[in-house]
Amino acid sequence: MERINAVMKALENNNMNAYFVENREEAKNLTEKLLEGCDTVSHGGSVTLAECGINELLNNGNYTYLDRSKAKTPEEMKKIYVETFDADAYISGTNALTEDGKLYNVDGNCNRIAAIEFGPKKVIVLAGVNKIVKDLDEAALRVKKIAAPLNTKRLNLDTYCNKFGECVSVKSGGKMTDGCNSPSRICCSYSICAQQRIKGRINVIIINENLGY
Ligand code: SF4
Repeated sequence: MERINAVMKALENNNMNAYFVENREEAKNLTEKLLEGCDTVSHGGSVTLAECGINELLNNGNYTYLDRSKAKTPEEMKKIYVETFDADAYISGTNALTEDGKLYNVDGNCNRIAAIEFGPKKVIVLAGVNKIVKDLDEAALRVKKIAAPLNTKRLNLDTYCNKFGECVSVKSGGKMTDGCNSPSRICCSYSICAQQRIKGRINVIIINENLGY
């Protein structure tokens, strides 16, 4: 708990609101509370959100839900991504959360990191305790050794990490942005949210469970 308290304090120092809940049910309830007064809502692709029942919450609540799973064409998908920038709230997982209160995320499509960084009036990030890492070096390694291999497996993408269980850059001690040349690469853009200019825009819920990748 000492470590979690320190992370929460660091997040608050970085102008992000920090919350701690015991389990996914409490995380869903707190998300619903944080969404009070929000009309248009969207979210990024995330195993953590699925595990917390966020899709059901948005489908059953009184929201204008920008749901990308309803898009029938790439054009409709793009429209939803662009409309998301004007949403009242955006809900996301995170690839890692550092002890000094930074969010670290890596995207292929980049709609998720773009919306976390700019646009929606409120951002709600759900993070299992397994996402807490010491620093940005450990965050980068976490993506290369855990998040990307599991996500490329889940999405059945033709990448080195899907076949061999870790990023091609790990053995050679590659830098944060080093990786494969696959057209299916999911590590294309790298986002670090440090001290925020808009206090309280980003709300981080730390959940006392291992969730997502
Ligand atoms: S750069 Fe390629 S091999 Fe490395 S983690 Fe990302 S998708 Fe996997």
